[in-house]
Amino acid sequence: MKKVAIIGGGISGLYMASLLRLNSNYEVSIYEKNNSVNLEKGYGIQLSVNSVKLLNKIGFQNINFEEKFFPNKVNFYSLKNKSKICDLDISAFNSYEDKYTTLQRFTLIDFLRNKIPSNLINFNKKVIEVQSESEITKVIFEDKSSIECDYLIISDGAFSKTRSLIANKEIKPSYFNSIAVRGNIDQNDLWNIDHNSISLFLGSNLHSVVYPVNQNGQFNFIAILRKKLNSNELANYSLFNNDEFVSSTLFEISKQVGRNIVENLRDIKCFPVFVSTEIFQPKNKNTYIIGDAFFTFPPTFAQGASQSIEVAHELYKNFENGNDHFNKERIKRTKMIDRKSKFNYFVFHFSNPLMIFIRNLLMRYLVKNNRFINSYVGKIYKN
Ligand SMILES: Cc1cc2nc3c(=O)[nH]c(=O)nc-3n(C[C@H](O)[C@H](O)[C@H](O)COP(=O)(O)OP(=O)(O)OC[C@H]3O[C@@H](n4cnc5c(N)ncnc54)[C@H](O)[C@@H]3O)c2cc1C
Repeated sequence: MKKVAIIGGGISGLYMASLLRLNSNYEVSIYEKNNSVNLEKGYGIQLSVNSVKLLNKIGFQNINFEEKFFPNKVNFYSLKNKSKICDLDISAFNSYEDKYTTLQRFTLIDFLRNKIPSNLINFNKKVIEVQSESEITKVIFEDKSSIECDYLIISDGAFSKTRSLIANKEIKPSYFNSIAVRGNIDQNDLWNIDHNSISLFLGSNLHSVVYPVNQNGQFNFIAILRKKLNSNELANYSLFNNDEFVSSTLFEISKQVGRNIVENLRDIKCFPVFVSTEIFQPKNKNTYIIGDAFFTFPPTFAQGASQSIEVAHELYKNFENGNDHFNKERIKRTKMIDRKSKFNYFVFHFSNPLMIFIRNLLMRYLVKNNRFINSYVGKIYKN
């Protein structure tokens, strides 16, 4: 039996572990730096059908119906014209079993955590050193304990320290010149929008998304605001918890997003958006990187978690088939989704009235053009 150590108990690490548990050739353990998995309430998550299909292989469809939502459309609104631009039918990519799903992030994490016996998740294990001179890899933790494994899977998120350790250099994501604000809001406080769909509001240097996270009328709000920050501001993480900074950011957003929305937000959090600039491939053939540690996407195609799940599933298939490495297709797909996410960001944030007019006209035409939709969206959703 081969020993597999997974570093990080987020979406990708937990999903990877639950897949490996299906194969009796592998003995899997997770090592998480915190003292529990992150079940913080308040964050929503969108899962497109490409990842729902893979999650259903481990029973995701059995999550209580009340705790998830199946939006059929994305409605695009112009914040400048205060009107709907067009809608995109995302249900066109659904099958009877696999449907585009929105839910609370903790519902997904709790589901994944419950797939794994608690003795296989080791908490308070922060990696500080990795030694892999032979077939066996040794991992040393901050508490001075260590383990040996045949395979090391790194899934410790966008700021992966373990990735830097094996690369022998610091690999950092870069600031995407944007900050994100998220909060919760009730259906009763959302007027003039279709409550069964995802609403995407396009503004000037800003876009925001509102979507239901369960069947009880609770919605997730997220706004992405273009903002330059200097290195001191970025290094000072407490800035994002500073009441004055959060209030001024909300004020900035309320100039475009309806005040009825901004004033009714609860559990507001503000954070900088970081993205990957390169794909790092480990030299050691028994070490793999998945999830945000593999690649952190801009949040404008809502593909972060979905890709984390896809990559983990692909790695599991490689384990089953005895393949050593991710294939070139994965890198090509990652670059394609990154390009499209960046293009979305560019188009969502226009401020020039002529550009906005042309964009809206083109969007109305393109969302009804099957060839375009199958290529632009379908290539991601129909993996
Ligand atoms: C604004 C925003 C909106 C988003 N919306 C969506 C969306 O709608 N849909 C979507 O698909 N994705 C979305 N994402 C992205 C998605 O949240 C991530 O892609 C996903 O959570 C990545 O999972 P992960 O397991 O790779 O990393 P993480 O969830 O970050 O988990 C990493 C884990 O590793 C642990 N860890 C860290 N360092 C160490 C260490 N040294 N040793 C041991 N453990 C360690 C951490 O404590 C953590 O538990 C969004 C992201 C942002 C920023």
